Amino acid sequence: MTIETDDYRDVWVFVEQHDGTAAPVSWELLAKGRELADETDESLVALVMGDDVSDLAEEAVARGADRALLADDAVFEPYRADPYGEQFRALVEARKPSIVLIGGTHTGRDFAGRVAVPAHAGLTADCTELAVDDEGLLLASRPTFGGDAMATIKCPAHRPQMATVRAGVFDTSEPTESDVERAAAVEEVEVVVAEEDALSTVLERVVSDVVDITDADVVVAGGAGCEGEVGPIVELAEVLGGEVAASRAAVDEGWIEPARQVGQTGKTVRPHLYIAAGISGAVQHLEGMNDSDVVVAVNTDPNAAIFEHADYGIVGDLHEVLPKLTELVREQQE
Ligand code: FAD
Repeated sequence: MTIETDDYRDVWVFVEQHDGTAAPVSWELLAKGRELADETDESLVALVMGDDVSDLAEEAVARGADRALLADDAVFEPYRADPYGEQFRALVEARKPSIVLIGGTHTGRDFAGRVAVPAHAGLTADCTELAVDDEGLLLASRPTFGGDAMATIKCPAHRPQMATVRAGVFDTSEPTESDVERAAAVEEVEVVVAEEDALSTVLERVVSDVVDITDADVVVAGGAGCEGEVGPIVELAEVLGGEVAASRAAVDEGWIEPARQVGQTGKTVRPHLYIAAGISGAVQHLEGMNDSDVVVAVNTDPNAAIFEHADYGIVGDLHEVLPKLTELVREQQE
């Protein structure tokens, strides 16, 4: 299929929401989308779908979108892949965006293909870096070969250029514009899906307690140095109001659940405080935590690579150091 790529313009960001609350990755993508749109000299457009979510469309404008498209209807709550996919597909067909960014969440991954396949679009999944080249083509990069290499993918012949993007890899956007500017830049679009056309009905939603460490302000991560005893990690995380995380070694040993793995093949975190205990500092681990504001490393080996990436280093046994830190924090809190 040959298409006129010049007919396609603008950078779209899908604002994912559930029960009226935006997924943080949406605002991260909006900030990155702003950069890309400025570089290609195009508009940044936020796409908001949901039931009674006009406030989120206005918020998207406040956070940097030139305008927001709002598909507001009860059919979009709760999320189902077919109404979302069909509405999104119809908008893409009619408006012809050049670049479409979607969070690499369960939701984003679930419906992005429903937009990409009928549009014959290029879809790069689980990206960790985005840029545009001299010709304005999207350069979508992601780990490949199990994390051994990075692949940069571009789609010169097809549009839109689509990417799902990992949460936590970009800075978030902050609200700035005034209320008046926000409302004026929101366009309510025609809803093209009806409840009777939906292929599925949600009877019940069971929210599992799958953890999400990507938004945590404080992360306490344990590695192979835990030697099977993760109690000190859990207690310090608890007292600091943070999340427990792990290196792959600790996950592979079964000490800490896979959803908490930090790194190239795990999650990307950017907390204010990252405590790495018994973690050597392999590049694959660093990739998931290098943007933390403050890194504290606890390791018995004074030459461990992690110390080169830490703001504070403690040479010592984590089974002794962490309980002392926990005790100190408790004392401060009393
Ligand atoms: P080790 O490298 O074994 O280090 C353990 C550290 O604990 C040592 O520095 C040691 O001095 C210290 N120590 C030992 N006892 C104590 C103690 N009592 N108190 C304090 N310190 C102690 N790794 C990830 O973490 N995340 C990823 O996403 C990831 N993806 C990968 C993808 C690929 C394709 C590959 C090939 C590897 C990947 N890895 C990943 C694995 C990575 O290369 C390392 O093997 C892993 O990070 C090592 O984990 P570790 O630091 O816990 O263990």
